[in-house]
Amino acid sequence: MCPGNQRNVRSHLFDAVLFDRDGTLVHDVPYNGDPSLVRPVPGARAALDRLRAAGFRLGVVTNQSGVAGGRLAPDDVTRVNARVEELLGPFDTWQVCPHGERDGCRCRKPQPGLIVDAAAALGTTPRRCVVVGDIGRDMAAAGAAGATGILVPTPVTRPEEVAAAPTVAGDLDAAAHQILRRSRLVPAGTARPRRGTVLVARPDSAGDVLVTGPAIRAVAAGAERVVMLCGPRGRRAAELLPGIDELIEWRLPWIDPSPEPLARSEVDAMVDRIAAAGPEEAVLFTSFHQSALPLALVLRMAGVRRIAAISDDYPGSLLDVRHRVPLGIPEPERALSLAAAAGFPCPPATCPSCGSAWPSRRRTWRPDTWSCTPAPPCRPAPARPSGTPRSSPRSPAPATASWSPAGRTSCRSAPGSPARPRSTSAARPRSARWPP
Ligand SMILES: [Mg+2]
Ligand SMILES: [Zn+2]
Repeated sequence: MCPGNQRNVRSHLFDAVLFDRDGTLVHDVPYNGDPSLVRPVPGARAALDRLRAAGFRLGVVTNQSGVAGGRLAPDDVTRVNARVEELLGPFDTWQVCPHGERDGCRCRKPQPGLIVDAAAALGTTPRRCVVVGDIGRDMAAAGAAGATGILVPTPVTRPEEVAAAPTVAGDLDAAAHQILRRSRLVPAGTARPRRGTVLVARPDSAGDVLVTGPAIRAVAAGAERVVMLCGPRGRRAAELLPGIDELIEWRLPWIDPSPEPLARSEVDAMVDRIAAAGPEEAVLFTSFHQSALPLALVLRMAGVRRIAAISDDYPGSLLDVRHRVPLGIPEPERALSLAAAAGFPCPPATCPSCGSAWPSRRRTWRPDTWSCTPAPPCRPAPARPSGTPRSSPRSPAPATASWSPAGRTSCRSAPGSPARPRSTSAARPRSARWPP
């Protein structure tokens, strides 16, 4: 079993938190080789202990170019690191880059090597790590590795680094609070038997559709069949997402930046179109400034029995799951939290039994255990050279098709991507453009 899967994971969002050392955990003393000069920043121990208690594995990722420059011996770094552990408690991995700026190594931040190696040492992937640092290099390394960055600025952090940071926390306690809050929003949950046809909606632009991808993947892991409602500006992105069986395109006048007048005949036809797709339930993804309620009304008219959405506005009988999320949560996590609230918890990135990457073909997935099914056989991920980023398996792109209200449906597979075997009577994915 993969070591990362032995831990009792409460959230499938993050497994580990990786800290920069100088300026983040301890006050920065340039090229420090003297353990007696190690002084933790205020609140560091308590913040780390909160994360340890919550089950996170902790690591340190630190540039020590003083070694390459001859100002520090490797033993000096080791002694200082030991003093840091003495004061702040144990870390599960230490990753140190001893190289200089001109060495062109793969590990010196903003290169991603330290984060990749720390994740590997902890049995997880960079995507499930948070990197906490005090300067832009830390955030750039996090981004390059595919990890989540949180900047904790100090007086020497430049304003442009603060402005560019994915998220900012005032101190380590606030960073720990943010990590715990974001994790709780996306609980691992209990996987349930697959449900029937589920409609997911993200009716805006391509970027909005792509950041909703992980949440749609979570829904796909728990549904027999997924129908996606998208807008014309998001259609090309929607076609790239795995796990979607049918696409319906509709320009929603209450979302579109150049809205056309809304005609009753158009709504009537869309109600019929959605009813024909037969979703038993729906998960409506929105940006924080949009209301899901008009679309919920259309879906209710189409007979959708269970509808989940984020709504601060009172939804009355339009929503069965009214989810609420604090401001400032990154959109992919916001969407994942809605999927989890709707009963589609975020699946782990790898099979808990064999550690292989999440199967690209949903037929191989057992939602009750989050494991691969035996057929096709559950294969371990191929061995890769240390430091090589793990590539995720590519799913075949959904076949595309044109749809017309007269029922003429023509399907064509995307080049080089055979249609997947289906579990339902809909043997081939269909998609629709609306209005036709
Ligand atoms: Mg630093
Ligand atoms: Zn290096």
